[in-house]
Amino acid sequence: MVNAPDTRTERGISYSSPVWKRLRRQVWVRDAGACQLCGKVIAGLFHVDHKDEDPKNNDMSNLQLAHPACHSVKTAKARKPQRCTSATPKAGGGLNVQAV
Ligand SMILES: [Zn+2]
Repeated sequence: MVNAPDTRTERGISYSSPVWKRLRRQVWVRDAGACQLCGKVIAGLFHVDHKDEDPKNNDMSNLQLAHPACHSVKTAKARKPQRCTSATPKAGGGLNVQAV
């Protein structure tokens, strides 16, 4: 894979994979070529948006058709600073030292 300008491959499925292409087509057909964010028909390029912003959740129920511009707006709104998502107890919070 040399010519892969899109480096956003953290998703569960690579954009270039046949699986993703098939999903895109299914979403396009299901949503009748209309952006699900603004409701207008998409004339040119389209994106497939992950409703829950989880790129690994590629279930059809989580995918929707969107204009690239509408998608960008939604993503920008949804994107939050990704800091600590796991509630890991801080070291030292629960001392477990055994004096021998
Ligand atoms: Zn739109």
